[in-house]
Amino acid sequence: MNTTFIAMAVAILMGLGLLIGLGVLSLLSGALNFLFVKPKLEILKSQLGETGFAFALTWDQSAEPVKYDRVRLHLFNPFGAPAQLDIQREFDGSSDDFARDIEMGPAMKELLAATNLDQATMEVEIIATRDQTTHKITMKGSEFKARLENATQTAEELKAKLTVVKEKPRFEIPERTFISPPLPKTAKQLKLATNPVFAGDFAGAAAGGGAAAPAANNFSVSKVWIEPGCIVCDACEGIYPEVFDVTDTTCVIRPGAPLDDGLKIQEAAEACPVEVIKFTKA
Ligand code: SF4
Repeated sequence: MNTTFIAMAVAILMGLGLLIGLGVLSLLSGALNFLFVKPKLEILKSQLGETGFAFALTWDQSAEPVKYDRVRLHLFNPFGAPAQLDIQREFDGSSDDFARDIEMGPAMKELLAATNLDQATMEVEIIATRDQTTHKITMKGSEFKARLENATQTAEELKAKLTVVKEKPRFEIPERTFISPPLPKTAKQLKLATNPVFAGDFAGAAAGGGAAAPAANNFSVSKVWIEPGCIVCDACEGIYPEVFDVTDTTCVIRPGAPLDDGLKIQEAAEACPVEVIKFTKA
């Protein structure tokens, strides 16, 4: 009796220990993800004087494939003057880690000269307009000013570091052709095109000059995405550059990509050697 009771107690304790261990691991992985995967905004030294604002943003593009193209500085200064300031500027967007030095105009000078910045709140937002994504950091007005004054690295210097060329992996892309070698002469009518996309283009060349098969109807897609595993071969971008953007590390769908040429998207998906391009028909 005693032995059974002890064995059951030990089993329950081991089960509890396992559950607690799994919980701790899950919390730890969440914390690591929060610390290392979230975007990082760095304030840099502007080369445009008192009206410039230089910064850099790095983030995990495979988790967040967006194109940042707008910066916003927002000062809430209820105990000083001016009480509020909002400065926004567009810049040439980037879907990869980037550094920019932006001319913010005279309002930037006014912001830095504001009184009572110790009690003011400063918001710095980097915005991906088309993707409706914003990365925001908040700090005291005085801290923002101090970070600007103490910055030593310029956007140009950081840009040089960010653009260290990562060599793409090399591999063979199978050659694709839709032109067949000359056909043997025969009285029979041959079916030339097995790919419905090109059926209309090639059927007229068949021996006997039969009527051209109708080309497949095009269709729209409601969504196209890239699953993990892209080997950055460039095949998809070569076929449909308006939709696919191959970066140094992966392939992303361009923001606002046209989704009305489903046949072309399907062709790119079929050309993908690792079959990571997925789409759903509208
Ligand atoms: S998605 Fe496919 S076709 Fe496009 S670059 Fe990646 S591996 Fe190549």
